[in-house]
Amino acid sequence: MIQINVSKLLKEPIGSIRNYEIGGTVDITGDGVSSKIQGEVRLTRTNRSILVKGTLYTEVEITCSRCLSLFSCPLTLNIEEEYFPLIDVSSGTPLSLPGELGSFTIDEHHVLDLTEAIRQYALLVIPMKPLCREDCAGLCPSCGHNLNQGGCDCPPQEADPRWSKLKKLVLTGLVDEQEGME
Ligand SMILES: [Zn+2]
Ligand SMILES: [Zn+2]
Repeated sequence: MIQINVSKLLKEPIGSIRNYEIGGTVDITGDGVSSKIQGEVRLTRTNRSILVKGTLYTEVEITCSRCLSLFSCPLTLNIEEEYFPLIDVSSGTPLSLPGELGSFTIDEHHVLDLTEAIRQYALLVIPMKPLCREDCAGLCPSCGHNLNQGGCDCPPQEADPRWSKLKKLVLTGLVDEQEGME
């Protein structure tokens, strides 16, 4: 359940709390692929809204920035958002929103829909340079072979210029050490 009817909670006193198990699917990246959502949220009635707090877990299919293969990247969403009712639950009269841009709302049927918050939070935590695994070997720069699937037949690469600089530093260090020993 990603849409929660909160009509009862809205009628309860300030400070009332409900816990909900969340389960369902959301199209996070907008490409028609649904991601499974799981987790738990706590809803608290405030004087003006319902505060949603909880941790949700999902996964998105993204491309590894090193080997360019698709993999599913687990995401943890720590959600904390206020949802403002569009109408008064008892009288049915429209309520004015606090005017904060991008506020989440509870619709006229008293349904609190977590979909958009889930989407926004997920997009924020998708890594900029995703890796299929921490030690992803990447692609061979000569033939493009995915080195996670074993080596290729290309001759060894020429040393990176940064590496020779590092070597020099190491050598200098060794010389210093030897001089110190004399
Ligand atoms: Zn990779
Ligand atoms: Zn190669």
